[in-house]
Amino acid sequence: MIDYHNMKSNNVLIIGAGIAGLTAGIYAQKSGFNVTIYESHHISGGNCTSWRRKGYLFEGGLHWLTGSSTDQMLNKVWRETGVLTDGKRITHTDPFLVCDWQGQQICLYRDVMKLAAHFNAVSPEDKPRIRALCRDIVRFTGFNIPVMDIGGLKVEKKAPITIGKIFTMLPSLLRIGALSKLTVAEYAARFKHPAIRLLLSSVITPEFDAVSLLATLGCFASGDGGYIEGGSLALAANMAKCFEDLGGRICCGKKAEKVQVKDGKACGLIVGGMEIPGDAVIAASDTLAAIDNLFDPPLREKWTLAMRANTNQRGALLMCTFIGIGVETDLSGSPEHAVFTVKNPFEYAGKNITELGYKHYAEFSGYAPKGCTAITIILIGDTYDYWKQAREQGHYDKCKKELIDHILTALEEQLPAIKGKAAVWDIATPLTYERYCGTFHGSWMTVTPPGAKRLTYAYKSRQIGNLYFAGQRIMPPGGTPVAVSTGRTAAQYLCRDFGVVFKS
Ligand SMILES: Cc1cc2nc3c(=O)[nH]c(=O)nc-3n(C[C@H](O)[C@H](O)[C@H](O)COP(=O)(O)OP(=O)(O)OC[C@H]3O[C@@H](n4cnc5c(N)ncnc54)[C@H](O)[C@@H]3O)c2cc1C
Repeated sequence: MIDYHNMKSNNVLIIGAGIAGLTAGIYAQKSGFNVTIYESHHISGGNCTSWRRKGYLFEGGLHWLTGSSTDQMLNKVWRETGVLTDGKRITHTDPFLVCDWQGQQICLYRDVMKLAAHFNAVSPEDKPRIRALCRDIVRFTGFNIPVMDIGGLKVEKKAPITIGKIFTMLPSLLRIGALSKLTVAEYAARFKHPAIRLLLSSVITPEFDAVSLLATLGCFASGDGGYIEGGSLALAANMAKCFEDLGGRICCGKKAEKVQVKDGKACGLIVGGMEIPGDAVIAASDTLAAIDNLFDPPLREKWTLAMRANTNQRGALLMCTFIGIGVETDLSGSPEHAVFTVKNPFEYAGKNITELGYKHYAEFSGYAPKGCTAITIILIGDTYDYWKQAREQGHYDKCKKELIDHILTALEEQLPAIKGKAAVWDIATPLTYERYCGTFHGSWMTVTPPGAKRLTYAYKSRQIGNLYFAGQRIMPPGGTPVAVSTGRTAAQYLCRDFGVVFKS
């Protein structure tokens, strides 16, 4: 059966209403295409999402938004996609992260002067390393994710990278070579004070290269990287609204089963057994899953082989176990984002858990019933096989219960105010992310091992015409900045191929 809704010319079909798919849809629709997004889940947003349990809202995606500051080139893209609107509140909590160390609160401040003074007071023997850290942070305050136009594209308004921007980026660019040879853990290990080591290795995952750490700290120090009002849900809903206001259509609960190819060109999708004809397809679901599952035979191009080879080393896939806890206690006034050493370490999925980090949302309204607080914990690590085996052996719920018991014991020791006050808990495993977002093994970013080249994969197929790709996997390490910028670039390739002016 044919869906006649899409029978007009220049119909673009997008797979996935995550940040990349919505971005590609917005720019393609602005540029005059007739765009329909097919989304398997019942809401838009993909990994950039949150969910409610018994009156508590668990922020499951965005923790800081790169590009919220007007100095960032990405700011323009977030504005053009309906995310940053005038009056939108962005919160820059400072300190960003706190470590409770032998009764003392050690803080990772966003403000670099404050950070230097505080760290020097805490650990005078680390002075030279603190100086080097702060110098690196200052260098990275000028770091920018470039937003440019592809060659040969007709554009309504150019997005040039100015000489001024190149100059501000230069100090960070000159440090990338040396820092990319180190992991975050190695960078942190230089410090003598254990709390400083713990803070630095808890900002992002310790396996990332040190460039990611300094880019993040530089982003914070420059006044960027705040938490956007309404978090992930509002961000995704605003993008979806922007797309629909432009005339685009999102079909939720509609999983794309295959991309149809005729005469070497993408010509439609199979959704729910139905053929949906289209003039072009943008696959904005996880590329790693798409190249295997959406094509018959699976897509085998030079870049897909490289992507598979690079991410097949299991450590290269970033995934997590996400824990949300609702407590009947008001935690306002206590550090919002903290990391601590677990008094009684416990084993989880074959790993000894000695430290835990948590975030609470007591200062944000709408995240919990009055007088109560939503807490989230993210355990980074590849536990895919552990949970898969637990599911196959019928132990999935039991394993979740064991984990939450350990977590609650550790958390209650750290935060006595919550003792016996947990009203609700929820755990999302890599299997949950796989089920809801269709990502490979439930992973949502990619780790570039130290020293390895940061590869950017193809935005368009070399073998199949009118077929484009966007999403976090196209450019490691991924995240929403990559999702939004690859969505924009995929729309530019589409415009160039169809001889259409790209409108922003
Ligand atoms: C716990 C957690 C914390 C995070 N923190 C941050 C942070 O602080 N800052 C940051 O920048 N990033 C963060 N991220 C990462 C970020 O959320 C993701 O990298 C980003 O949202 C990926 O967007 P995407 O559009 O590329 O892909 P996805 O979010 O994976 O979107 C793909 C969409 O495609 C849909 N789909 C898949 N297959 C099909 C199919 N066959 N048919 C139809 N639809 C399909 C999925 O349902 C999904 O909606 C975090 C992620 C998690 C999970």
